[in-house]
Amino acid sequence: MKIICIGLNYKSHIEELKKTIPAVPVFFLKPESALTRRNRPFFHPDFSDNIHYEVELVVRINKLGKYIQKKFAHTYYDEIGLGIDFTARDIQAEVFKNALPWEISKAFDGSAVINRFLPKNCFKDLKNINFSLFKNKQLVQQGNTSDMLFSIDEIIEYVSQFITLKIGDLIFTGTPCGVGKVEIGDELEGYIEEELMFKCRVK
Ligand code: MG
Repeated sequence: MKIICIGLNYKSHIEELKKTIPAVPVFFLKPESALTRRNRPFFHPDFSDNIHYEVELVVRINKLGKYIQKKFAHTYYDEIGLGIDFTARDIQAEVFKNALPWEISKAFDGSAVINRFLPKNCFKDLKNINFSLFKNKQLVQQGNTSDMLFSIDEIIEYVSQFITLKIGDLIFTGTPCGVGKVEIGDELEGYIEEELMFKCRVK
């Protein structure tokens, strides 16, 4: 399986990073070795002094597809989860400066946290889902899918032009504003509406 991550999908986050609004979805990949599952700890890597959390809604693909049209995209997933796209912000700044690939800042071990998934039909409206992240019991990020620049179905249409989607693939759909640094010992908890979706201790 592969992990597809969408960047710059919330205006509030684009503003905090001082980037420009993209015309089409921006995506990148993480390998399967990036997964941190089942509320296991995230081990802070030694190579960065500025690891940021980014809480994101996650979609799990349940059907093989290529060139998926937006109108059919909803038939390619039936579960929604929540995760963290951990990012080495210091390294990302370095690679951006030099126009180099950014995998070392994004695709490292443990950098894709997931845990529970909820059936899609739990939600009345996929374009109005509240999600949030707490760090040490303090609210640090809050988002609503109505603020996505590109919807889940638009993302699937776009990405599947380039990359075949397979059963079990995950799509991280972008983070709202409020990203910030983690330290060893921090505890992160992610919620969709009132449901606790994951816990993640930084070790
Ligand atoms: Mg992200």
